[in-house]
Amino acid sequence: MAQYGFYFDNTRCTGCRTCTMACKDYKDLDQKHAFRNVCDYEGGELTVGDDGTVVSGVYMYHVSSACNHCDNPACVAACPAGAVVKDEETGLVYINPEVCGGAGTCVEACPYGVPVFFEETQKASKCDGCRDRVAAGLKPVCVGSCPLRALEFDEIETLRSAHPDAVDSIAPLPAGDATGPNLLILASPAAADASDGAVTNTKQLAGEEAWA
Ligand code: SF4
Ligand code: SF4
Repeated sequence: MAQYGFYFDNTRCTGCRTCTMACKDYKDLDQKHAFRNVCDYEGGELTVGDDGTVVSGVYMYHVSSACNHCDNPACVAACPAGAVVKDEETGLVYINPEVCGGAGTCVEACPYGVPVFFEETQKASKCDGCRDRVAAGLKPVCVGSCPLRALEFDEIETLRSAHPDAVDSIAPLPAGDATGPNLLILASPAAADASDGAVTNTKQLAGEEAWA
């Protein structure tokens, strides 16, 4: 079995949201729902020295993330209907809409907050790695859309070989050991040191504010 995953170059990402919008367009999502999210993370402080000099220690960076098609997907284990499936050929995790009974337990179980519950249909859905495109030999839509080439998608071992300095988590993502995410990140200097920051576009991420 192959195992596909994503690589995200945090040093390149400008937070432009093109990946989010390309995915929303391809998946025909409404204004407030998204399968690939971009969070803005800010922290640090300004300090004033004895001589009145202001020194900036503030930072900001962006994290583009979608489903990590985990080795141990909490969403799969949590679904009472067996609607969340890890594909044996690709390792991609998807939700079968014909089987989903609307329990919403996958939404609660995923530490990355990936599955989205749709009130209109009373079903959950999420990033499936554009499995239809992958089957046709194409990359996921988000990858091709990024103007900064900050996203890559391939077999995870191929990505690991190409990016030996990548890590599996930066703030505010959870630690990478819970579900075995197939995600690699090249951390920016700010992200490598970040500890006191906060997400500042929480309304967008919560679906309370439109992405565009
Ligand atoms: S990131 Fe969340 S939704 Fe995706 S496979 Fe892992 S646990 Fe499931
Ligand atoms: S399209 Fe690329 S640069 Fe823009 S937010 Fe997404 S990953 Fe970052």
